[in-house]
Amino acid sequence: MEDQCIRWMARLIGYPDNHAGNLTSGGSIATFGALTAARDHHNITPENVRNKAIYLTQQTHHCIHKALRIAALDYAHLRIVPMNDAYEMDVFSLQSMLDRDKNDGLMPFLIVGSAGSTDLGIIDPLVKMGQLANAYGCWFHVDGAYGGLFMMVEQFKSRLAGISLSDSVVLDPHKSLFLSYGSGAVLIKNRAAALKTNYYRANYMQDAEGDHAILNPADVSPELTKHFRGLRMWLSLQYFGIAPFRAALEEKILLTKYFYQEVSSLGFEVGPQPTLSVCVFRWKTGDVEKDNLYNHELIEKILKSGKIFISSTTLDNIYWLRICVMVFRTHKEHIDRFLSLLKKIRNDR
Ligand SMILES: *Cc1c(COP(=O)(O)O)cnc(C)c1O
Repeated sequence: MEDQCIRWMARLIGYPDNHAGNLTSGGSIATFGALTAARDHHNITPENVRNKAIYLTQQTHHCIHKALRIAALDYAHLRIVPMNDAYEMDVFSLQSMLDRDKNDGLMPFLIVGSAGSTDLGIIDPLVKMGQLANAYGCWFHVDGAYGGLFMMVEQFKSRLAGISLSDSVVLDPHKSLFLSYGSGAVLIKNRAAALKTNYYRANYMQDAEGDHAILNPADVSPELTKHFRGLRMWLSLQYFGIAPFRAALEEKILLTKYFYQEVSSLGFEVGPQPTLSVCVFRWKTGDVEKDNLYNHELIEKILKSGKIFISSTTLDNIYWLRICVMVFRTHKEHIDRFLSLLKKIRNDR
């Protein structure tokens, strides 16, 4: 069952059959699996790590930094590549940083792209990044924990196609497949890389060896005895088929677009046009400090209503309110209820 789920995801993102995959408890541990494979495939050791360079943006999820730290890769040079106005990695800056580092005698090793950042849901220019990774001999990792499974939706197929150029990708079925928590996944294009990090044999397990047609999960992940995570994913896909999941993703995209339009017509400032199902907005008067405080109070009022759960984030020292429409039970009536609450709050000002 797990193998079928992994193969289905690998085909969805355009990986060849020689991949390795593992169902994990979530995106963070999946990221750790990807980056340790990258490390060992590139033969990074305590002796040479200080000569390596890693490229990511300020929008990269913190689980990447955490995994780099745990894998002792944070001794490498960490390059924060500038972003364009849409908060996507600027590939011209990436290329000039790669060139500069090479000229300085460093070895570019890893490029990290986001397929749906957490703050804003933006998608980095994955194709161009993949081409640069290839040209400079880097491992290309894509964090698709939130956005990768939007590949199921026709309108995002070409936008996310660059994922197929990656060496590893993280997906979270407990996000964009609406499954219960504890459903993450890592896919590694080159099976040998995953085996290099994780394949061990033990004398006491000699009877378990044999000519298995499918990969043992213990050979491609840090776990040995593990939870049976495949069932909830396999059963959901078998029972419902793909269509309702695709329809739900399409609905969430439309709801976010609708919210973006309506909240701006209520007089709120909105951030970048939503790419996926995240939208940030805030009440703006012009005084940054006062506005930050006011929006912070605003979210407390919203949460106190007990009817709506939203979050917030900070971009360039500006406090933003943030919706992420990612629960299968969220429909237009809920967005409308939230908009009425925002209208009331605005009128009471
Ligand atoms: C949620 C998220 C993660 C972390 O995934 P967990 O399943 O919470 O560990 C990593 N990257 C992105 C972009 C995410 O949205």
